[in-house]
Parts: sequence; C-alpha cells; structure tokens
Amino acid sequence: MHRILFATSEVFPLIKTGGLADVSGSLPPALQALHYDVHIIIPGYQDVLTAIKQKKQIAEVAIPEHNATISLWETRLPGSHIKVWLVDFPPYFDRPGNPYHDTKGEAWPDNADRFALFARTVTAIALDQCDLSWKPDLVHCNDWQTGLVPALLSLVPQRPATVFSIHNLAYQGLFPRDTFDRLQLPEQWWSPEALEFYGQISFIKGGLCFADQLTTVSPGYANEIQTPEFGHGLEGLLRHRSTSLTGILNGIDDQVWNPGTDRYLPNPYNWKRLEDKQLNKTALQEHCGLTVDPSIPVIGLIGRLVHQKGIDMVLHVLPELMLEPVQFVILGSGELEFSKQLQYLAQSYPQKLFAFIGYDEALAHLIEGGADMFLMPSRFEPCGLNQLYSLRYGTLPIVRAVGGLADTITDAEDETIKSGIANGIVFRDAGPMSLLQAVKRALDLYRKPKIWKKVIITGMRQSYSWETSAKQYGALYDKLLRSEKSSNDVLLYHSG
Ligand code: ADP
Repeated sequence: MHRILFATSEVFPLIKTGGLADVSGSLPPALQALHYDVHIIIPGYQDVLTAIKQKKQIAEVAIPEHNATISLWETRLPGSHIKVWLVDFPPYFDRPGNPYHDTKGEAWPDNADRFALFARTVTAIALDQCDLSWKPDLVHCNDWQTGLVPALLSLVPQRPATVFSIHNLAYQGLFPRDTFDRLQLPEQWWSPEALEFYGQISFIKGGLCFADQLTTVSPGYANEIQTPEFGHGLEGLLRHRSTSLTGILNGIDDQVWNPGTDRYLPNPYNWKRLEDKQLNKTALQEHCGLTVDPSIPVIGLIGRLVHQKGIDMVLHVLPELMLEPVQFVILGSGELEFSKQLQYLAQSYPQKLFAFIGYDEALAHLIEGGADMFLMPSRFEPCGLNQLYSLRYGTLPIVRAVGGLADTITDAEDETIKSGIANGIVFRDAGPMSLLQAVKRALDLYRKPKIWKKVIITGMRQSYSWETSAKQYGALYDKLLRSEKSSNDVLLYHSG
C-alpha cells in the first residue's frame, strides 16, 4: 500500500477559505478507498486546535532555521479514518481568523516565515526524521504555501516522490529578496531557474521547478496556464514542464453536496422530485426578505469578491438587470470596495437583491437548493466547484468559457439541447455586455419550462464523483513510484 503525505494549508471541514479546502477534504478519503495510506498535514491554526476535542501530541520537531521547536498533533479528518497532523507553533499560527490574512484583509506580515516553517516540518516528516514510524513514498503538495517542500526534498538523493498541484496560479507567494536571505535557503536557488522571480522569491516556483510531477485542477486550465493570458508570467516555465503537467478535474463531495440528503435544505429533492426544489426557493426568498413568488427566477452567486470572479462585471450590470423580473442572492467575502457596492445596491433593491457579506456554509447550501440559476462570470477559473454543485442541484449554471467552467458546462443551443448534452449557459467575452446577454438568454430559457427541465435534468444526472478523479491521481502516483523505484534501483546498482 503506497503511503502518501498530503500537505495543504486548508482542509474541509477543519478550516476552509475556498476550493482548496474542499479538494483536501475529499481527495484523501477517495484515495484511501482506493487503498492508498494517506495522511494529511496542515498548520495548527488557532481555530482548528481549539475546535478539535480529540487530539494527541505525537512528536516535537526542532526546526533550527527558525529557531523553533514545533509540536505535532494528531487528529482524524471528521467522518473518516484519515489521520491529520497539525504543525503547532503558537508564534506563527495561534492567532484568530483567516489562515492568510488579518481581519482587515491584509496578508499576515510573516506569511513567508509561517509557510517556510510548515514546509520544513513537512520535509522533516517526509524524510522520516521525526520518529513517527511512517515514511511516505510520495508527498503531494498544494499551492504556494507548500511550494518549498519539493525544493527542499530535491536536495536529498533518497527521498519520496513529489507531486505539486496548482489550485490557483494567481497566488504565488512572492516576497522580497531579504526574505530569501532570512529563510536560509541555498544561495543557488536565487536564480530564474529556481525560486527567483523578477527580483523576488516565489514560493510557488519551488513546486513548479522541483516537483517530479505537476497537476492542476482541470484539463482546460492546464492548457491555459501555458499561455501569456493565464500564465501570470510563469507560462514559459510551465510550457517547459508540459510533459510533466496533467489536468485532473476536481470531483465534488457527494455526501456534503447532495440535494437528496442535504441537511441545510428544508426540502431535500432529486431530479425525479423537482417540484420540491420550489419549496426551497420559497425558503430562500423568505430567508433573504425577497418577494416570495415562485414565478420570479432567482439567480445565486457565491464566492470570493475579487476581480478574478468577475464581481466588478456583475456590479456593472446589476442596475440594468434589476429592471427584469428577476431576483439575485449573493453570498461572498473579499475586497471591501466590492462588498460596499453590493451592500449599497442591495439596500436600493431590497425585494430583488440580497447580499450577505461573510462566510456562511448553510446559506451556500440554501442558495444552491433554492436558486434557479447560478452565475460564475470568472475571468479565469482553475476548476470551479460551484458550477458542479449547481449541476447537481438543478440550478442552471451561467458561466464564462474558461478553465474548468469550459470543461464542464455545455452551452444550451438548439443543437446541444436536441442532442441532450446542454447543461448550462456559456459566454465567451469577459465584458459586462456578454454577461448581460448570457443572463438574458438564461431568462429566456426559463420561460420555456419543457426545455428548461430537460437542460437541468441533464446536469443533475451527470456525475462528478471524487472516485473518478482519485483514480487519475492514483494512476499518476503509481507511474511516478514505478519510475522512482527503477531509478533508485539504478542508484543502488551503481553505488553497490
Ligand atoms: P475558489 O477556490 O477560487 O474560491 P471554488 O469555486 O473552487 O473557488 O471554491 C469555492 C468554495 O468555497 C465553494 O465550495 C464555495 O461554495 C465556497 N465559498 C466561497 N465563498 C463562500 C462564502 N462566502 N460562504 C460560503 N461558502 C463559500
């Protein structure tokens, strides 16, 4: 049984700011079901350590570069048998709120030190230096917070294989040169072939340059990030590594996101009992103080309120859309300016527009269950999860044709409707006018109940299970470990 150490900065349900947590909470159990022995490792954030009742300390690890001794705690991923290890170092992680920034949305000033310490601890465990009687065959790292792990491991000849997954290339972990010096990293890494990126240190390059295998969360995004439009300056490097880069579409946790059993829905339903979805719509309209009327289409939007998600375009078209017979429910948090504008508009149209600024798991489920449509006008979208939840919940996705959105949503045109593959509305240009037209097309479709039903049932019957994705990760691990074994055999042959 292959042993996999899964290093991540967030995991649902212990700590979540976005899709990475969903992946980290779902992929390891799906891999375990395929007989991989997976352990998860995350930083010991205050919120997590205080919330967990069942935990034990299993090791103390000295990290000399940080003058630190960390405590390693062990718990289980709720609802599974997967072990989760928590890297506890109070000066870095015992603080309230978000893993990456303070309550004002400002990045923690010591983020480089925090995630470098985390990476050094993961590396020590990966090299079996902590008396844990468990040595991984492969370390699976995720996003810039773990980028230094493949780099540090590359310094050791006899080491586990490494996989680095890109969940969002826009977040790179860039810090000034003096950070590089403070972190006591090998001087040869200050080079464009390694961690240097236009005069700064880039944590994500640790993963991109040094991991044995790269993955990202959809085939579409794997292609896009090799182009200047989506590559954030790293497209050349990614093209260089293209034979080691695979796109594997995320799955969804179909226990958590199942309209038939969803504990947050007053009226669970499935594609055979679509009339019950209407009752959730009423509950949503009531919850949001909107006019309660089953005939008015409700459009939902959930996500980080940032430029990536096209929230500025939504703000641009909302006043015009408010002239249509339509309601909007928006749930999100992020940039202050977007939040303010949304709240202002919501106050101007109290019966048609509801905006909740904050994080609310229950409301997210009620929106998926109660809304008729779901809007995702992203400028780029590595995979996107909400369009997959929306498919499952019979909530028509209206998406821009990028990354994972383009991979999963087929536009409702005459031909695709006829052939039974249409499952949403897709638009191309990243501009408010295209967005507006797409929403209007969705509203037109809504007025044709027979076709509408056909399109949403197509989506509801599609499957995006983690099992399919986990099998692809498993195949990748196996291939890597086979080639790793043969190269180690060669090494032993030469040295012996
Ligand atoms: P990203 O990782 O770029 O933020 P994804 O679509 O991959 O976007 O995943 C976002 C996840 O976070 C989804 O599960 C979504 O429902 C959830 N989410 C985002 N914002 C909120 C919020 N304000 N309240 C509740 N859930 C949220």
